[in-house]
Amino acid sequence: MRALLIGRYQPFHKGHLEVIRCILKEADDLIIGIGSAQISHTIDNPFTAGERITMISSALREEGLIERCSYIIPIPDVWNNALWVTHVKSLTPHFDVVYTGNPLARRLFREGGIEAREQPLFDRAKYSGTEIRRRMLSGEEWESLVPPAVVKVIKSIGGVERLRDITRSDKITYLRPGETSP
Ligand code: NAD
Repeated sequence: MRALLIGRYQPFHKGHLEVIRCILKEADDLIIGIGSAQISHTIDNPFTAGERITMISSALREEGLIERCSYIIPIPDVWNNALWVTHVKSLTPHFDVVYTGNPLARRLFREGGIEAREQPLFDRAKYSGTEIRRRMLSGEEWESLVPPAVVKVIKSIGGVERLRDITRSDKITYLRPGETSP
């Protein structure tokens, strides 16, 4: 049985890794879909699809799981939810079941006639992209929340500095006329 796990992975963290381990107890093979593949360099989505592929593939290699995850596929958003499942299917090899914790994604797959399963959440307060990006911005320790291979990728691309620069750019965008600082 081949499964699909779809997510933004901004960044890929240890919660995602645990989900993959769980799915591989039920599925023979896993496709990892990188959602919102067209978005990067924003506060919520700082990393490109290519950078996310590098993070995921190096973490899976480090954990000895890469052989069971046959494809990592970027999936850009479409601005029509009713067409999304067809769009996902057009970009991926055949899969039998989808795993997602995202309620909208789950509903869209079910309405599209595809079995959609929910997986348990692992310490969501800690293992979440939002928390990791918050820690990066506030200078707190974030490295223990992602696999060691992901730490290396983020450091090699200056990911934390990028996030801080993006935040600064966004503040400037919001200045009112006459203001010189946020
Ligand atoms: P995410 O990276 O937040 O999560 C990926 C998966 O990991 C999810 O199933 C989530 O439940 C799970 N996860 C995260 N933290 C976990 C933890 N600590 N323990 C266990 N599991 C954990 O990504 P997401 O927001 O679910 O991604 C959905 C993607 O689908 C987005 O890119 C979204 O844009 C896309 N989408 C697009 C459309 C469209 O284009 N019209 C419609 C629906 C969804």
